[in-house]
Formats: sequence, C-alpha cells, structure tokens
Amino acid sequence: MPEAPQTESDTMTANAQLADGNLWLHFTRTSDWIGDTPSIPVLDRGEGCYVWDSDGKRYFDGLSALFCAQIGYGRQELVDAATKQMQQLPFATNWSWAHQPAVDLAGKLAERFPGDLDHFFFVNSGSEAVESAMKLAIQYHRMRGEDRWKFISRNYAYHGTTFGALGLTGLPGLRKMFEPLRPGHFHAANTNEYRCKISQACPPCDLTCARSFEQIIQAEGPDQIAAIFVEPVQNAGGCFTPPEGYMEEVRAICDKYGILMVSDEVICAFGRLGYWTGAEKYGYQPDMITFAKGVTSAYQPLGGVAFRRHIGDVLAEDTTSMYLHGSTWGGHPVAAAVALANIEVFESEHILENVRENGDWFGEQLHGLYDKHEIIGDVRGTGYFWALELVKDRDNKVGFDDEETERLLRGFLSNRLMELGLICRADDRDEPVIQLSPPLIATQEELGEVIAVLDQVLTEAAKKMED
Ligand code: PLP
Repeated sequence: MPEAPQTESDTMTANAQLADGNLWLHFTRTSDWIGDTPSIPVLDRGEGCYVWDSDGKRYFDGLSALFCAQIGYGRQELVDAATKQMQQLPFATNWSWAHQPAVDLAGKLAERFPGDLDHFFFVNSGSEAVESAMKLAIQYHRMRGEDRWKFISRNYAYHGTTFGALGLTGLPGLRKMFEPLRPGHFHAANTNEYRCKISQACPPCDLTCARSFEQIIQAEGPDQIAAIFVEPVQNAGGCFTPPEGYMEEVRAICDKYGILMVSDEVICAFGRLGYWTGAEKYGYQPDMITFAKGVTSAYQPLGGVAFRRHIGDVLAEDTTSMYLHGSTWGGHPVAAAVALANIEVFESEHILENVRENGDWFGEQLHGLYDKHEIIGDVRGTGYFWALELVKDRDNKVGFDDEETERLLRGFLSNRLMELGLICRADDRDEPVIQLSPPLIATQEELGEVIAVLDQVLTEAAKKMED
C-alpha cells in the first residue's frame, strides 16, 4: 500500500504546532504556548506514576493530571473494559433509557458511599455534577412547597466554571470577568487556620468559621437558602482541612434551618484522602455528594451527584414527577464500564489502604522539609493531598507581594520543577502554595523522589528570592 502523504502537522514538532495557536488551552496564559518560546510540554504517553512528553522527557505526575489519575497510567484492565463496552454497546443514554453499566455502577457506589446516599445521577464532569446538585436542591425544596434558591459556599473554594458552579466558586479572579452571575450566591469563611481572618482565638480553631454560615443565613433569609456546599478538604488556597468538630457544626446548622448539606468531593472522593469519600473519613453525613475525576481514574469523563433517599422520595412523589435535568452523554456506558473496572482495581490492589499507609509518611517528609526550609510557612493536608504555603518571613507570617510571587512562581518554581521532572502545581489564587496530589498507587520510594526534588528546588528558590 502506498504511504499516506505527510500532512503539515506530521512534519512539525508538537511544540511548534502548539505555538501556532490552533489549540486553545484551559486557564493557561496565552504567552505560555502561543508564539516563539512555548514553555508547555506536549504529553505523549504514561506508565504508572510517570508521563513522557513528545521530546521523550519523563516526569513524575505529582498532581495526578488534575487530581484525577488515581491508579496511574497504562492500566490494561481499564482499556479492556472500555474496548469490551464499545464492542457490545458503544452508546446508550440515561434519558428515558437505562443500560447495564450505569445500573451496576450506581449499585456499587451505593454500597461504598456513606449512609443512605444511594441514588446516583451521572453527568460528564465536576462542574456538571455541581450544577446538578444545585438544581436538585432547588427542585427538592420547591416540590415541598419551599422557595429556596440561594446557596452558600466558602471563600476561595473552587466548584467549577459553568455559570451555576461559578456562582459557588469563591475566587474573585475567576468570577469578575463574567459578572453579573446568577444572583443568590454567598461565601462564608473557609478553614484556613494558618491565616484565620475571623477569630482572634484561632489557632486552635474555635469554629467561628463554621458559624459564619449562620450569619449569612440570618442575613439572607433562613427560608431562602437551598444548600451549603463544602469540600471535605478545600483545594483552592492549599488543602484547608476541616478543624475538629467543623463538619458536625455545619451539619447542625443545616439541620436547624432545613438546608441541604452538599459535600463537593470532585477531588476528595475515590481515595484522595484514603477513603471512598471525604464524608466517610471525617464522619459526617451530607445530603448529597458531588464527584467526578477519580471515579474513572480519569480514563473516561464521568461525574455525578449522589443523593439521599429523602430527596429521592420527594422527587418520586407522584407518577408524573421527574427530576427536570439531563444531558445526552451523562452516564455514558463506556465511562460507566471503566468506572466499574476502576473500582475493581481499587479493591484488588488495596489502593485506599496504600494511601492510608503512606499518606502520613508523606506528610512527615513534607514536615521535614518545613524544618529545613524557612521559605515554607505551613504544611497542610492529609492522605495523598498536600500543600506547602511559601512565605517571605516565616516568624511573622509575611507572604510575598504580587511582584515577588510572580518572580517566585512563574519566573522560577514552575519551570524548575518541570526541568527536574516533577509535575505539581505552583498556585497563587490565594497565597502562593505548592500543591501535591500524587497518583494513589505511588510507593514510599516514589514519594521520596518527590521530596528530593522539592528539597533541591526550595533551596534554590530561597536563594533566588534573596537576590
Ligand atoms: N468541584 C471541585 C471541588 C473541583 O475541584 C472541581 C475541579 O477541579 C470542580 C468542581 C469542577 O470539575 P470539572 O473541572 O470536572 O468541571
């Protein structure tokens, strides 16, 4: 057979193609990839905890892509599950129809999510999961005769980018360009104990942060608030864990005012904290859990909302009632089949146990870096989900100003970490933090490689900032 003629893209390097600007990247400065000196690697393949770019350079994926490549790359079991499903029934919807993989997946998840969170509505992403939870909350209240349509989430929390989810997202920099947003969104304090702005007593936390929900509820009308959204561990800002008693207090406030409690676990579910859900780890019972990312270890796009029986009962009130929401791809059979295979791998390879066994060790190593590097102001996290907050003056908790942060993160850290083959995130949506979220299969030896790179880079970073 004659060889196919080479196209223009065959003859160009991947980076040169990227620099042409045909492909637009998500939340990425255009100067990072369009033009003469693109600094974005084009990824080509993956195996275990590692990925390789188109030049053959290897990286440890210390962010699990975006907090989602739980069982790592190159898993034949998931490829086989997808292939088999594509051969048997490549597509069917959950819209007026059902198919076996989605039915099975809902059943399996019901066994693994806490309490009576045993109804599952599948979508394709985390933002859609959050949108679905918002609409479900409003519809549940309205069908019970209550006109509740307002939501409270937390400062600096990220809940997605679609207009409803963006309303919940508490990052001013992401919201401002698109205002006015949907009305009825309010943001309470988060659980940043390192820089608590609302209680003189903190640390230790006296739960003023939890009670800040109640102030908003009183001000905005207790009978108008539909739901409170919290992540078990808040990602944006750098792994804000819940202080002792915090979730119980939020649950009690929700119960007092008839408000639904939604645990947004798009990152935290599926092992990131060493449990199927963050709610299980911290022992609270939300009315809904939103999830995505790790449900398929990112081999297929899938998200969803789990909701409790009392919500399902209201929606199934009479023979004509339905949840007024849906999408063509939600619960795609190939994604559902992959999610089922993912659960099998989690169980046969004791993935949750691996995180529980090594997460504390990883935390100890990060605290070891704190002892060594004055530039680390705080170490926060749990499981395989950690953040290092970087400061100019540790004794007085003085952070870097905007120019210094730019110089530190973009001018040095991001590139140097990549040069040394470590993918993690240097983030400054609040104070500058390095975020770490390794694949859940990572061994102590592999986590040790991450620590060694950080050790070197932080030594160099401190010198750079002295210059
Ligand atoms: N909720 C949380 C807590 C998230 O971390 C994210 C994404 O990182 C989302 C929602 C949105 O998910 P997606 O990017 O899949 O739309």
